[in-house]
This record gives sequence, structure tokens and C-alpha cells, in this order.
Amino acid sequence: MPTLQELLEVSAAFHQHLCPRQVLGVRMGLLAGRWLGLDVPRSDKRLLTFVETDGCAADGVSADTGCRVGGRTLRVIDFGKVAATFVDTQTGCAVRIVPAPDSRTRAWDYAPDAKNKWQANLIGYQHMPDDELFIAQPVMLTVSLEKLLSKPGYRVNCEVCGEEILNEREVLHEGAVLCRSCAGESYYQPVTESVTFRIEANLS
Ligand SMILES: [Zn+2]
Ligand SMILES: [Zn+2]
Repeated sequence: MPTLQELLEVSAAFHQHLCPRQVLGVRMGLLAGRWLGLDVPRSDKRLLTFVETDGCAADGVSADTGCRVGGRTLRVIDFGKVAATFVDTQTGCAVRIVPAPDSRTRAWDYAPDAKNKWQANLIGYQHMPDDELFIAQPVMLTVSLEKLLSKPGYRVNCEVCGEEILNEREVLHEGAVLCRSCAGESYYQPVTESVTFRIEANLS
């Protein structure tokens, strides 16, 4: 198992600097691994992580668990919270980990020479024991793992826009297969007529 320092180096390289929330993310992943009895970082897809915000903590979690958006093992549920739920997809066991409400003030006890709050958090978070730094709670998912993971290779086309939909993310509306966007959940609207750009490959 890599040490905390090694994992922080991986995270910092990925994130381009080291910051307190990354330390939290890395340590959350380590604690989750111990809690679930799984070695981290992982190269298989057994561990699934839900992070409750994007940003620094998510990079820490990712560096330390091996869970990645591209691997379909990291999902951002944007509640704007530094918190994460770690799921062993083989057993269904899950634990949600969140920093203790007083972790910021307690960090000073572990970094008495820190020059400012930021530095106190950065150093303190690396040295605080798990039970002072975090609250860990076993949880049960209210979403179906089976639905979430879906079937490899499954795809359909939206009957309105024609775009391909993977992983059973389509919506059935009055018998029609629609993408979530056409079903009214869109986060964008077009500003000009759609244009298809084609690049002609010149292979000669
Ligand atoms: Zn950061
Ligand atoms: Zn559509």
C-alpha cells in the first residue's frame, strides 16, 4: 500500500499543487479502503465512489482510490459538499465520509507553527487521527447499482434528436425513447442552427 505522502504526491501532480481539500480527499479514500477492507488505489472497477462536489477533494479521492470518471468508477453528485460515499460493488457495502464539523479548528492542534489557516489545514489534516478528522457512517444506496452501472455495449438512439444514448440513460415518454435533454432536462439551448463540421481526411 502506498503511504499518505506518496498518495499526496500523486494527487498534487494531478492537481498541479497540494491543497488542504486534496489532503481530505486522499485521506477519505484511505479510510474508506480500510473500512471496506479493500486495497487502494485500485485498478479494477470494484470500488465505486460518489463525490459530493467537484474540485480539489475530488482530485484527492481520485488519486488515492484509482476511481475515475473515465473508468465509470467516480460519479460527481454536486451537492457542493466535501463528502464522498464509497461503495464495494461486490458486496454492496457503502460508507459515507465527511470531515468532522470542528476539523478546521482542531487542525491547529496538529500544526501549532502554521502561519495561517490554510497552512494549518494543510498540515493538520495530514496528521489528525481519522476519528478526529472525519465522521464515517455506513449507508445504503437509494439508487440501483445495477441501473447505475448498466450493461456494457447497450445503446439506443433518441427519437427526437437522433443522438446516441449509452448506459440506459434514455427516458420513455408516451412510448417514445428520448434522451434526457429532449425529455426536458436540458442544461443548454441552441443559439444558432446546428452545423455539422466535417474534416476531410487527406490520406494521399
Ligand atoms: Zn486545490
Ligand atoms: Zn434527444
